[in-house]
Amino acid sequence: MTGLISAGAPSWATGPLLPGSAHVTDAGPSSGPMQHLAVVVCARRSWCHGARRTMMQATGVQRARSAPDRDDQQRARIDEFRRAPSVPLAFRIIKQDSDVERVWSVFQQVLGARAMRPRAPFFQSMMTFCRRRLPAKAPDVFDAAVARGIPSDELFGSLIGICCGTNPPMLQELLDRYVRCGPHTLDTMFRVAHVCRASGRPASALFLVDEAARFNADLPEKLLSMFAACCAEADSEVQAADRAQQLLDLIRARRITPPDNRQLFGNLVKPLIAHRRFEAAIDVLSLMDSIDLPPSVHLYTQLLAGLASADRAQQGFAVFRAMVDRDVDVSDRMVASLVAACGRCATLPPVETLHRFAVDRRMLGNDFIICSLVSAYDQCNALDAAERVFQERCDRPGPGPDPRTLAAMIRAYGRHGRLSDAARVFDLAPVGDDPDIWNGFTCTLAKADRLPEGLSALRAMRARQVPADPTTVACLVAACGRCAELHAMASLHQQAQADGLMTNAVISALIYAYAHCGQLEAAERVFQGVARPDMIVLTAMIAAYGHHGLVAKAFATYDRLKSSGEPADERTLASLLTACSHVGEVGRAERTALEFKSAWGVGLESPYARNCMIDLYGRSGNLNEAERLASASAADVVAWMSVLAACRQHGDVPRAERVFAIIQAMDLPAHLLSHVASAYVLMGNVYTGVGRYADARRLRDEMDALGICKIPGRTSLILPGQAAMHFLSGDDRYRADAALRETHARMMRDLAQHGYCPDVAVVVKETASVSDAKQSVCLHSEKLAIAYALKTLPPGAPVHAVKNLRVCPDCHEATKALSAIYRRDIYIRDANRHHHFRDGQCSCGDYW
Ligand code: ZN
Ligand code: ZN
Repeated sequence: MTGLISAGAPSWATGPLLPGSAHVTDAGPSSGPMQHLAVVVCARRSWCHGARRTMMQATGVQRARSAPDRDDQQRARIDEFRRAPSVPLAFRIIKQDSDVERVWSVFQQVLGARAMRPRAPFFQSMMTFCRRRLPAKAPDVFDAAVARGIPSDELFGSLIGICCGTNPPMLQELLDRYVRCGPHTLDTMFRVAHVCRASGRPASALFLVDEAARFNADLPEKLLSMFAACCAEADSEVQAADRAQQLLDLIRARRITPPDNRQLFGNLVKPLIAHRRFEAAIDVLSLMDSIDLPPSVHLYTQLLAGLASADRAQQGFAVFRAMVDRDVDVSDRMVASLVAACGRCATLPPVETLHRFAVDRRMLGNDFIICSLVSAYDQCNALDAAERVFQERCDRPGPGPDPRTLAAMIRAYGRHGRLSDAARVFDLAPVGDDPDIWNGFTCTLAKADRLPEGLSALRAMRARQVPADPTTVACLVAACGRCAELHAMASLHQQAQADGLMTNAVISALIYAYAHCGQLEAAERVFQGVARPDMIVLTAMIAAYGHHGLVAKAFATYDRLKSSGEPADERTLASLLTACSHVGEVGRAERTALEFKSAWGVGLESPYARNCMIDLYGRSGNLNEAERLASASAADVVAWMSVLAACRQHGDVPRAERVFAIIQAMDLPAHLLSHVASAYVLMGNVYTGVGRYADARRLRDEMDALGICKIPGRTSLILPGQAAMHFLSGDDRYRADAALRETHARMMRDLAQHGYCPDVAVVVKETASVSDAKQSVCLHSEKLAIAYALKTLPPGAPVHAVKNLRVCPDCHEATKALSAIYRRDIYIRDANRHHHFRDGQCSCGDYW
């Protein structure tokens, strides 16, 4: 502070005034106006009693009696200033007067008069006045000083204190001046960063990290900790992760002294986890080891929780191993969340290791660990192990498993198609009205497409006043979509709106399901009703457009996702690839896949996206690439089925045989066994397509011998305002309904006139004669459903139907012709894609 005085103190400023003013300038962020006044009075005891009075005024003492003579004095000084303005007089007024307008006008007058040349102490005293009475003007005072070339470092120190003391702090004003003319010292950076944090805008301080790093000087630990705290508090900003990484790099390169502060490292790791920079976050562990600062339990836990919730099971497991090796305490919650992550990634060995660990540490007394083990074993397709854990828990004396564990076991049975076992566990539940169990059971029914039972379970929940959770509603909506129960779906939609259950999960389920039933406009209406759609909702809409072949709209929605700052995932990529697939845009699909890899680290290793890409290569005739991509993946039956379908389309028999052998050799869980039957059918189609009927017959015999049954084809016709009508091939309704038989016969005649001839190659079952085979093709469920629609719907009205398997080639040809003959749009959603038939063409371009 003495520097201020010695550095060119003007003659008018010498004498008794100075010591006081010097003290006042020491404006730390914590000192308030009262302290200042006290300082002034102590230091300037001999000085005028004005200051003492000011203090009295501030403390409310004797205000009434002293006010008149003080005012008189002040007015006298103002008069004197008007007669003969001078800097020393202005200086005294600023120090002693408390009237804001009077002081400000004197200050302005000094600035306006050319003859007067105020120096640093003058501005400093004005700053002091501002701190007490007029903080909003402090930035202007500072600007005026800078404009006059006054050295600004000390003034900037005062400005920081003043800007921080206002409510809210004047952060922007401060930052503007810092950037323009603040002293760029490490100490100032610390104080500015402090104001950013105090203002609740820690992200505003992040630019200082970069600036400090460029100093090429060691950073004091105090500053480093301040920066780390800003990074942690601004963890939603990408920049926070960048800066945290920058600081860690500096520490690693020993360009700054490694801090002996675990909390600091924890703060730097936080934004890295928030931005999924897990490798960098894990590297912090070795960095801390290298400086002999063992990571804290908190840091390990933070890292493990981040890895688990992002399904980085392998990395999470490695961190867990490191913790165990070092005897770091692993909480049972941590074990449960890691087990859950391993389950979601379907990696069995770590689940088994964690299970053994939980047994050793006697953690199995906690039902949340039991629950996570049951779910994880189920997701790893180890239902036996899930059952064992559950049974051991049930056999324990005392109360039975908690509702969440029961619900997990119900879901596990449901996923493996064991609905009666699910129902048995449901009946085990001691509490009749537990929401977890009811929701778990209802979801299980919905996922198994047992829609009538699922809906009646929902009604039972309502009657018992058990609240349905959004997941249950979403599962039921999805089942309605698959079963084409538009009517039931509309009432679930209404009910969800009335119950306030329109979460993003329910909204996206509605978008998928409406689109699945060909009701794209209804899907769009649901989408448009969402004010701020998140990634899940946007992805659902992209998928809806993708399946309907509306590439431009799919990509426009993707642009909206990008500009919203939401991340994208493998489902988003799959939906875009599906859209590209519809129009055969291989190049665009490949570019999109690259973009996803670089922007979000989402590649073709995820099954959704990979299978879409295989489909795309298959359609474009690039069977080599399709097969290569399928081989690159872990055994995935859906991928190989896509390759097989492509072989049928392109008549590639040797490749089809190779792929078929791979599918046959797969050890598939129960819920995927239906693919084997479909593979036999596809392979049979390949043989008949090239006239190898004997081979097709051999396959049929093999199917019979192995007891592999083809899933019956079922077409569900959506009729406005009523429940869907389900048709099986040649089903009883056809025999019982004379009007339907008549419409069907007329339809087949019209088709024949149009040049259609039934393609018996698609017949899988052995038939007595060719005419029997033709009859069987003509009675496929798709044809019966369309005939029923022609009989029921007004002329020209569109037909909407859903097929549970892929549409067969014969029905596809027939439906194309029917759309032209009857001038109707026919929408059929099959197991693989949407078909929109119009004027004798299909939107799939004859590839499905
Ligand atoms: Zn058919
Ligand atoms: Zn089609």
